[in-house]
Amino acid sequence: IINDILDFSRIEAGRLELQEIDFDLRTLVEQAAEMLAPRAQEKGLELVCHIPPQVPTALVGDPGRLRQVLLNLIGNAVKFTQQGEIVVQVKVKADREKPVLSEAEGKVKLHFAVRDTGIGIPEDKQNTIFEPFCQADGSATREYGGTGLGLTISQQLVELMGGRIWIESQPGAGSAFHFLMELKKQPSAGRAAAGLEMTRGWQGLPALVIDDNATHRRVLLEMLTHWGLEVTEAESGLAGLQELEQAQATSRPFRLVLLDGMMPEMSGFAVARRIRDADVPGDGLVMMLSSNHIHSDVARCRELGIATHLVKPIKWSKLLSGIATVLDTAQETEKEPERVIPAATVGAGLRILLVEDNVAAQLVGKKTLEKTGYVVQVAGNGREALQMLEAGEFDLVLMDLEMPQMDGLEATRAIREREAGSSQHIPILAVTAYAAKEDQERCLEAGADGYLPKPVSPEKLGAAIERFLSPDGAGDAAPPVDLAVALEATNGDKELLLEAVKLFLERDYPRHLEGLREGLAQRDARAIKRAAHGIKGVVDSFGGRAARDAALCLETIGRKGDLDGAQSALAALEAEIERFAAFFAQPEPSRKL
Ligand code: ADP
Repeated sequence: IINDILDFSRIEAGRLELQEIDFDLRTLVEQAAEMLAPRAQEKGLELVCHIPPQVPTALVGDPGRLRQVLLNLIGNAVKFTQQGEIVVQVKVKADREKPVLSEAEGKVKLHFAVRDTGIGIPEDKQNTIFEPFCQADGSATREYGGTGLGLTISQQLVELMGGRIWIESQPGAGSAFHFLMELKKQPSAGRAAAGLEMTRGWQGLPALVIDDNATHRRVLLEMLTHWGLEVTEAESGLAGLQELEQAQATSRPFRLVLLDGMMPEMSGFAVARRIRDADVPGDGLVMMLSSNHIHSDVARCRELGIATHLVKPIKWSKLLSGIATVLDTAQETEKEPERVIPAATVGAGLRILLVEDNVAAQLVGKKTLEKTGYVVQVAGNGREALQMLEAGEFDLVLMDLEMPQMDGLEATRAIREREAGSSQHIPILAVTAYAAKEDQERCLEAGADGYLPKPVSPEKLGAAIERFLSPDGAGDAAPPVDLAVALEATNGDKELLLEAVKLFLERDYPRHLEGLREGLAQRDARAIKRAAHGIKGVVDSFGGRAARDAALCLETIGRKGDLDGAQSALAALEAEIERFAAFFAQPEPSRKL
């Protein structure tokens, strides 16, 4: 309430400044929904995000304020709805007057809508609810609580961001809050395509979606179809089973089955049990769970042999990687015999611990590595890995991330915790679901020494292992800067790039470095975190991967507050920044700008 009032008076006084930073719209919307999901699920409400694949999501603006508006609208929707669903939708608003122009200007006009099936708002109140301290129903105050400021602030924020907000509602049937907003697109928005590379092999594969909620089905169908899958829908467990039987009879079984855990009459778990008992192959099963019973539900999945699950509201990236896990496992098993296996030149005889829960991936991974000359043992989850590390000697850990019992990040942290204070440091290479930056960062933060995006080919793996274990160290083989990324930062302008790098090296970096040294001297963990964070952001935007990783390492040390190792992490960072600087100082031809 206090925050509401502060915001309100700040905006009234014209003292609220908007940020202009890069953000990912899909992540923002999904995270806002995720925050309110527990409350929605407690009330038995379905909460769905619908952002069609065509919507550009790499945008520039004020994500904090946009999140505030969304949280307020979704929060209200959950509060004033007793049954049914809440849908958060973002679409591109076709601009009839100047479509070409705004495209050329690198902007996009978006139409946001938060719809609910709640109590609705009487027509005579629809105009006043945006006024400060106004609530549609006097008695609602006691029943629902609140200040009557949320919508006022939302309206002010939307207008401050150049948009407009309005409402459509029918008492008893529900409300829809809409707002329009024009946002800048990030100059180089090719990142989404990176994730899509993995869908290449999915074309035409039959998939089945079993979910009682029509909106959710439609959103899933849209995504899966976009990724090339051939989708069949079923609106109940029984209908789903019929589809499965039919598909088997026509010998075109589904390769992927997305199954809602919570459905009336026949739950997803009941469906899964029937599949298992009837001996219908259930390899492609992905269970969709509601986050309120997550622990017991995951346990039930495990009992039923379902390796992959997703938590609602379903995130695009998780859906993508979940499907990849299910489909790629099958593909790799099929393709494996044809692969050309490179002979290990470095590190033959190396003892590798492969941590992976998926049985097919275990088999493929183990065989491939063994053919390359490594000695491989397999752990089925993080906990097992810890036990095996305690019992045996290994040179390297290959760590999958998503596993039951103890996942890869947890296991990595636990391994590093055990090593703390000793001189031991077993190299850990994390296997990330796909090239998601946040996944990679999380791995490094957890203590992994590197990562490999899936699907892991023997070539990639071999190269990474060699790079890792070669005596000159991991970083030296790779160039210190990814120029393509660096040029993205300045929209392809080389001069500007060099100028910006120079400014960073001459002005910002020395200041941050000073901060780091000072922080170290004063044992001030927060100062270290702050300065490292500052360096990380800049070198990352200039494509300096190794420098970024070094800065991240120091930032993590600062955040954890345990400054052991900070000195050597700082030395490593300084060395990386030197390589970074040397790269940009090279004469033009050898830098290949
Ligand atoms: P409050 O803190 O009271 O929720 P808001 O400004 O967010 O303040 O909302 C003002 C009033 O508008 C609420 O008290 C409620 O009567 C009405 N309202 C807002 N959102 C909804 C909704 N989704 N469904 C029904 N009524 C709503």
